[in-house]
Amino acid sequence: MKKLYEKFKRFFVLKILRKKYQRVGKCKACGKCCKNIHIKHYDHLIKDEEEFENLKKLHYFFNFLEVIEKSDMGLVFACTKLHPETGKCTAYNKRAILCRTYPQEEIFMLGGIIAEECGFSFTPIETFEEVFANVKKKKVKKGNN
Ligand code: SF4
Ligand code: SF4
Repeated sequence: MKKLYEKFKRFFVLKILRKKYQRVGKCKACGKCCKNIHIKHYDHLIKDEEEFENLKKLHYFFNFLEVIEKSDMGLVFACTKLHPETGKCTAYNKRAILCRTYPQEEIFMLGGIIAEECGFSFTPIETFEEVFANVKKKKVKKGNN
């Protein structure tokens, strides 16, 4: 039964959600991800202050953030709700979906990096051998047509 569930889960993540990586590990509550944040809005990372100011009117979470840097990718934020000594979130029950689901594949695929100390990492869902076998199969099929 467990095997069937794993098979279905893999199919759903790969073919329906079209994800390429799976997140493994667990949060160690180090607080590093709250100090160096890129924010994705629709299809892009926030790059200028004007857009950020407008976002503040849309969701209270953006008011927790302050700009600390401008990188090639966009604005870099730190969250004011992170306790400076304990490294814990002081707005835990009001934290945004972004905080609850961090880190996601999207940010990883956009070139974002997760903190070295982070308890999470990403691994490819399909192994290299599987990808290679699929490409080979497609080539053979094409050759037969
Ligand atoms: S609200 Fe809490 S979890 Fe979210 S970024 Fe701020 S400190 Fe981190
Ligand atoms: S960097 Fe990773 S381990 Fe640390 S608080 Fe964020 S999600 Fe948790």
